Formats: sequence, C-alpha cells, structure tokens
Amino acid sequence: MVSQIKARTLVASGAIAVFSAAVALTCDVARAQILMDGKEISQGAYDAFNAGRNFLHSNNNADAVESLRKASELAPDNADIHHMYAVALAKTGQSTAAINELRTALNLNSNLAATWVTLGGLYQSTGQLDKSIETFRTYLSRFPADRDAKKIASLVSGLEGERAKMIATYGQAGQPQVSETDYYVEVTREGIIRWQPAQMPLRVYVTPGDSVPGFKPQFAEILKQSFAAWSQASNGLVSFALVDRPEQAQIICQWSDDPNKFKNIAEAGHAVLDSSTKTGLVRGTITFLTVPLVEQNPVTDNRMRRTCLHEIGHVLGLAGHTANPDDAMFHTMGVADTWKDLTQRDANTIVRLYTLSSEQRASR
Ligand SMILES: [Zn+2]
Repeated sequence: MVSQIKARTLVASGAIAVFSAAVALTCDVARAQILMDGKEISQGAYDAFNAGRNFLHSNNNADAVESLRKASELAPDNADIHHMYAVALAKTGQSTAAINELRTALNLNSNLAATWVTLGGLYQSTGQLDKSIETFRTYLSRFPADRDAKKIASLVSGLEGERAKMIATYGQAGQPQVSETDYYVEVTREGIIRWQPAQMPLRVYVTPGDSVPGFKPQFAEILKQSFAAWSQASNGLVSFALVDRPEQAQIICQWSDDPNKFKNIAEAGHAVLDSSTKTGLVRGTITFLTVPLVEQNPVTDNRMRRTCLHEIGHVLGLAGHTANPDDAMFHTMGVADTWKDLTQRDANTIVRLYTLSSEQRASR
C-alpha cells in the first residue's frame, strides 16, 4: 500500500508588512518642515529614515539597521520609524530587539495594522506560538477589513494546528520539559517512516529551473550543498547521488513561481512523500517556490538555504515540525535573512531515525 504524506511549512507571512507612513512635506517661509504620521520630525531623522528604507529595499540589512537606529534615536516618539527599525533588526536575526521596537511602536500608536502583523510574525518565527496567535487575533478583531486579514486568518488556523500537536505531544505546556538533544519524538509523532539503508545512495534529480521566473542558478547549487549537509550530519547514514533523468530518481526536486499551486498560501516549499508499508519510503517530490510570498521578503540565497534544509529533512522522513526556532524542522520560515547550518540537534535527530532497528520501528 502506498500512502502519501504531505508536509508543509508555515511562513511568517505578514511578518514584513507594508510600511504605511504618511510622509508629508510642507514648506513655510522660515524653513522646511517635515511631518511624518502627523508629527514633525527633524531633517536629520528624516534623512536617516529614508536612507534606512532604501537600504531595506536593496536588502542591505546591516546598513539599514544603522540608519534606522539613528533615525529612532533622533525621533524617539515616531511609531513608524520604530516599526521600520524593527524590520531591519528582524532581517539581521535580532528578533528580541525587533520585538521590543514593535511594542514601543504600538505603545505610541496602536492603530498601525501592519505593526500588529509584523509583531505576530516575529512571535511566530521565534517559537512563541501563544503570543503569536493572540497578537494576530488582536489584529483581526481591530482591522477585520484589512487587506491581509484573510491571509492572517488562514495563518492563525495553521498555528492553532501546530499548537494542538505540541499539546498532544507534551501536555498543556506544549513544550519539552527539558532541553532534549534531538527532536525525534516531535517529528515522528504521526508515524515513523524512512528510506531503507540498502537504498543508499538515494538517486536525486534536480529539474532545470532556467525557465521558471525568479529562479537563480545558485539555487540549484544551494540545494546540492543542502543534500550534502544532511549526508554529512548523518555520518553517511543517508547519502545521495545526482542522476540525469527524472525516471531514474527516487527524489525529484522542482521549482515553481506559482504559490497557488501550493496547498497552503503560506508555504515556501513543500514535500510529498510516497511510502510503502513494507519497505518504507519509495519516492519523494520537493517543490521550491522561486518567488517571495511576501514582496518585502525576497527569496535570497539565505532563505533558499533554509527552505532546502527543511524540505530535504521532510523527504528523509522527518515528517513533522518542532517548536525550536534553531531546528531545521521548525514550523515557521522566519524573516531572518541569515545563513543556516545544521545543528547538533538536527544531526542527532537524523542519526537516531536511521540507526533504529526494524524491531524498534515495529514496536512504535
Ligand atoms: Zn515543513
């Protein structure tokens, strides 16, 4: 019997919401006066803000942090500047500082829909599920007609599903009691599946992506490096060989620029596994999205790397998700635009799955 398992990743979809500051320039005889969000700000603050915004648009996030930090110091009571500073912090992986900036922004002005969405997205991508759900709910009740409301409502139901699974695994706390050295239990709670050792190396076919909008040649390289990273982390328990034709392959990787083809509107990649009750996994197909789900989060090499590691994990049998943002199998693709390597926990988990004896597998 062949059954199919579909795994999907939630994306902090609204995390970088559109910046909506109303910037007005008015001149009087004495001097230029700059108003942002109804408040006057200095020329220096305005210039730093603009520079930061341009750096963010060109994905130069480190320089954006510097400019926007300066702007927020020069105009400490401007909510929009705090919001944009938070976006820059989040993109450079400084999520705690980013959350603080967003709370400051909402204390100054609680009517910024986008700021609520960004805050919810950051709670989500740092594994704070309860706070994330609560923040998105606040947003939905305050701004039911907002253009992102439908997307966020769908995201909230996905997050509630993750929360329910965590509670089913760990009880009401929804988290492991002690820090575990692997996350095997979390990702196998819907059943243990894997490839047979005799099937190694697994034959992988990477579909050419040149005709797919948004595809960059380095994505294929990053994908191959990510297969190698899992092989290395597993001490060779899993291994891969590239093949030239799809009909020779057990794992097929393909590219798509159409998010509508994906089951959930908030995923950056997805894996479909075919498994046989007798022999375990028989086939895997991974589809990678080449265009951003949220315009402000371009598909950078760093994000493609995270998606590759995550989807390959699924195709190896790590079918579930974890609550720990450092894990390759964390449920959310965050906003941080930073390179990810597999951790010791990732390595321990794949080793544990592939060193189980068949009796242990049968007894579960
Ligand atoms: Zn996933």
